[in-house]
Amino acid sequence: PTAARRHFVRQAIDADLEAKRFDAVRTRFPPEPNGYLHIGHAKSICLNFGLAKELGGSCNLRFDDTNPSKEETEYVESIQEDVRWLGFEWDELHFASDYFEQLYAWAEKLVTDGNAYVCDLTAEQTREYRGTLTEPGRDSPGRSNTPAENLDLLRRMKAGEFQDGEKTLRAKIDMAAPNINLRDPVMYRIAHINHHRTGDAWCIYPMYDWAHGQSDSIEKITHSICTLEFEHHRPLYDWYCDKLAIHHPRQIEFARLNITYTVMSKRKLLQLVRENYVSGWDDPRMPTLVGLRRRGYTPESIRAFCADIGVAKFNSTIDVVRLENAVREHLNEVAPRRMAVLDPVKLTITNWAEHGSDVEMMAAVNNPGDESAGSREIPFSGSLWIERDDFKEEAPRKFFRLKKGGAVRLRAGYIVDCHDVVKDSAGNITEILCTYDPQTKSGEDSSGRKVKGTIHWVSCDHATEATVRNYDRLFTAENPDSPAEGKTFLDYLNPDSLSTTTAMIEPELAAAAAGDRVQFERLGYYVVDADSRDDALVFNRIVGLRDTWAK
Ligand code: ATP
Ligand code: MG
Ligand code: MG
Repeated sequence: PTAARRHFVRQAIDADLEAKRFDAVRTRFPPEPNGYLHIGHAKSICLNFGLAKELGGSCNLRFDDTNPSKEETEYVESIQEDVRWLGFEWDELHFASDYFEQLYAWAEKLVTDGNAYVCDLTAEQTREYRGTLTEPGRDSPGRSNTPAENLDLLRRMKAGEFQDGEKTLRAKIDMAAPNINLRDPVMYRIAHINHHRTGDAWCIYPMYDWAHGQSDSIEKITHSICTLEFEHHRPLYDWYCDKLAIHHPRQIEFARLNITYTVMSKRKLLQLVRENYVSGWDDPRMPTLVGLRRRGYTPESIRAFCADIGVAKFNSTIDVVRLENAVREHLNEVAPRRMAVLDPVKLTITNWAEHGSDVEMMAAVNNPGDESAGSREIPFSGSLWIERDDFKEEAPRKFFRLKKGGAVRLRAGYIVDCHDVVKDSAGNITEILCTYDPQTKSGEDSSGRKVKGTIHWVSCDHATEATVRNYDRLFTAENPDSPAEGKTFLDYLNPDSLSTTTAMIEPELAAAAAGDRVQFERLGYYVVDADSRDDALVFNRIVGLRDTWAK
């Protein structure tokens, strides 16, 4: 990007390099392994890894695993897979838990220097003593301990002499600070729990603010990029680095990504999974990267979306249509066109015997925007499936698909004229009777006839059945995160977010493998789901051809 179009984070980094505040750019992406990554994380990944790439720097992947009660190895693995799937590779892989010894040594230093103390207040008392925006806090009795007393107590905390919640280590800053984060924040809490990597080695665990900046410092990170909620934590980030006199990264905050018709917090996503509102973290309706991947999103489209929305200093909510457009645009370029009929009704060509052979192979272009994609042959016969709603017995004048007494072009086939229908006893149409016009074969039409509509079809004898999962948005409300009084986000779940149909698909698709993406002509983009078997294909709708969401 040109200098004027660079976002503010890039501008800040450029200025730092210019001023020689840092010699290079080293960023990190620091997920807590307590859930799967979502599209919001993708924004942070693209930003951190993207800056390192643009500026010839480096970017680490660091697991912020300081809160053992919610962390699991399953998440550690999925996060690495997701970062790679998005197209990024870290320079170094770290775990904040690898720094527990160093963090503890630094805590002893703060204690010795009189900058931290052991506090006996309960969690509730600590909150109460902290004061409010308008009232200063009150000193904990521990605040007047001597460094020697504190050091002894801290060592006994670490040795496991105390119960959970009995004591904390707190930074000694300022109980009257206007910024409440500086009112003697907790650095360590006691928790006798097993950690996914350190096991039972520790019974004191560092708080986020204490672990985060110090981990950045150990890795010699230059720019610690985080979301806006941490803006008021920056003075604390700076205080710890200053008091320890260690490498001091610069924290820069940007607006987190919110998207309409979705929820993004891991807590809520976990609830959707645990309570079976979705089939798992990788349910194709989830905004997780595993969900988007299974839905058929490409990494390219997600990166393009992140570049498109940019990086801002103020929170806003992005219209989900922009995400959908990103995948539409990419798949329009790369997805081969195929024919599939989702709601089939039979069309019989009553004069097909005149043709001379039962089947005629028709050449169909794979991608009109990409000549190199070539073409394929599809069998055309006297017995076809077409889309039920492409036919109307009695239709308004502007209905350009097939109607009784009307004509339509069958894509890559012939023009057909409808002369009658067959109905069952309930009056439902079971068969549409047409004649074909032999002079109108696509590509070699000598008839001079013009018809307004073109519809897709598959040959009955050559089609395969496939299950199609039609996914739609998971929520009906634009902002399920702000429920009306007495409601929760769960009240806005879309009851029609998944409908399943049995489709008839062209023979070329029979060989499709999980992960293959195609455009079903006139319908939308679809991906072969992991549930597919060779003899029982399953397709997921990624997105329709255009935005048809009814507001
Ligand atoms: P959640 O609130 O969903 O649990 P989190 O911030 O606690 O998210 P982390 O695993 O700590 O999740 O996030 C790792 C990194 O991704 C952090 O640097 C965080 O700022 C960033 N991140 C998380 N959610 C978003 C989002 N919606 N938009 C942009 N960045 C995000
Ligand atoms: Mg976090
Ligand atoms: Mg979180």
